[in-house]
Amino acid sequence: MTQYDIAIIGAGPAGLTAGLYAARAKLKTAVIERLGEGGQLAITNEIENYPGAPEHSSGPGLTGRMAEQAKTFGAAVIRDDITAVDVTGDVKTLTGKEGTYTAKAVIIASGGRARPIGCPGEAALAGKGVSYCATCDAAFFSDLEVFVIGGGDSAVDEALFLTKFARKVTVVHRRDALRAAKSLQDKAFANPKIAFLWDTVVEEIKGDGMVEAMTLKNVKTGELWDHVADEDDGTFGIFPFIGFDPMSGLFKGIVETDPQGYIITDENMRTNVPGVFAAGDIRVKTLRQVVTAAADGAIAATQAEKYIEGI
Ligand code: NAP
Repeated sequence: MTQYDIAIIGAGPAGLTAGLYAARAKLKTAVIERLGEGGQLAITNEIENYPGAPEHSSGPGLTGRMAEQAKTFGAAVIRDDITAVDVTGDVKTLTGKEGTYTAKAVIIASGGRARPIGCPGEAALAGKGVSYCATCDAAFFSDLEVFVIGGGDSAVDEALFLTKFARKVTVVHRRDALRAAKSLQDKAFANPKIAFLWDTVVEEIKGDGMVEAMTLKNVKTGELWDHVADEDDGTFGIFPFIGFDPMSGLFKGIVETDPQGYIITDENMRTNVPGVFAAGDIRVKTLRQVVTAAADGAIAATQAEKYIEGI
């Protein structure tokens, strides 16, 4: 069992910034992450709205630098999957698959994960043509046709990225107007490789071992039709980017959440449990961006420091 002052769950921008601030305050700090560093940012192609980030900054590049900075001040970035927590007393215990960690304060910065469409065939064909990470999988679709589902920042950003690989990218959106930022919309509308299918949802994904067809539905007319892979290609890609769900299951019934599972905090990132803070996308908030995640992390760490001084 390793003892820390502050244990942070999640190594996205919120967790890494909390790690930087906590370690720089000379607190023994662990940032525990079950996947690689970066959270959602690790699968984000280009960051153009984080102040000071160089032009064409990639998500992994930015979080890589955040992680190095936190480590420079002494934060331990640990790869483990926390499966149980006991945070009720002054000493909090986090149990992972690889080890057990105790801490005086815990910062939950575990973010969210891609929300699936939920249609038949999607789960069976995940990784076989259905992908939730363009940055990771775009190269598999070189010169093929791909469909991006959704109309928010993620969908449009990833559609733009996919044009570097795919022959054609079609954005399938359930309405007739995008939710994405205007600057992203302008880029997408100007890109000759991107087409749009408005008022359309995916009803079913079909294929034997790989995506071969999908059933689409026009939500206004009710019309149903199948898109079948080009005969020469044999397959096509489907990238759902329809939002994400908070990864707060570990704390269900322990810290207060809203009905969607986002953790409720005050402006100092305090949850209803003393010594337990939340930061970043996992929190109830109006703007989920790298800059707000980083700000949350800084506040959570400084408040956790104050909390530790008080116990
Ligand atoms: P989002 O903003 O919630 O957008 C989700 C999109 O998917 C919306 O267009 C929504 O349609 C659609 N959708 C939701 N449920 C659906 C369903 N069941 N079937 C079909 N379509 C569905 O999610 P996001 O794009 O993943 O972004 C999440 C957060 O990260 C946002 O705050 C975003 O600003 C931020 N982000 C920022 C950047 C950037 O600044 N570069 C990049 C990525 C993400 P409706 O429009 O009809 O609701």
